[in-house]
Amino acid sequence: MSQQQQFENFTASSLYCEKCKTAMPVRQRLLLVLPDREIFDYLCTGCGSSVGRREITAGEKLMAQGMAERPPRRSAALHELTP
Ligand SMILES: [Zn+2]
Repeated sequence: MSQQQQFENFTASSLYCEKCKTAMPVRQRLLLVLPDREIFDYLCTGCGSSVGRREITAGEKLMAQGMAERPPRRSAALHELTP
């Protein structure tokens, strides 16, 4: 449970930048799209150098979207409307 929250926070967090010699806010850039995954580059907002890279698999992406878009108790409400 807490692991998923950390995953959500990852994109908004800061990463250590060797040039700035401190943790800097990063900008996410889509680097490469593959059939089963997407690769993102993380750029320091201070100097623009690449400070990290991350692969998001199709499964992870679906999971993240599902968690973000799923309103509470929606399936139950839909069930009641079905005759
Ligand atoms: Zn930097």
